[in-house]
Amino acid sequence: MYKITLEWTEEGRTRSQTISDTDNTQEVGKIFIGRDEKKCDIVLPVGEKTISRLHVVIFYDFEQNCFFLKNLTSDRPQPNRVIVDGKTIISQQTNISLESVIQLGTISLRITQLEIIQSQESYGVECPNCHRHIPFDYLGDFCPYCGFSLQAGRTTFGTPDQN
Ligand SMILES: [Zn+2]
Repeated sequence: MYKITLEWTEEGRTRSQTISDTDNTQEVGKIFIGRDEKKCDIVLPVGEKTISRLHVVIFYDFEQNCFFLKNLTSDRPQPNRVIVDGKTIISQQTNISLESVIQLGTISLRITQLEIIQSQESYGVECPNCHRHIPFDYLGDFCPYCGFSLQAGRTTFGTPDQN
């Protein structure tokens, strides 16, 4: 589960948008930013020619449990500029955290809220027998559903603190 808020100034006005994992974005776990209102989740002014129709995507990485940003114009002969926290981003991905500033053309978007909540069900081990997701506490014990012996080192998922 996540919730992310971006804030920016547009024609002298402050705008902000909060997107959570339950919102219907164009693609699950992804936030597209650009001028094209049909393809983007955060739509920037159409008159802003320094911004591409589809400029960047911010996506949630379930395995690493954090957000990354990608420049969607990187394979063009002349990619449009993306600067994140002072670093120019072309083909590499970059980590996005609270207070990160994403500069697209003349607009700077700041991450003013970033919440990532790991629910009990989102991490743990998977029972190799019944394939149910079980909290880590059961590791080395028996599956509470089917009684299968759960030895350490079985398939894990999510990003656990302990490993
Ligand atoms: Zn089981």
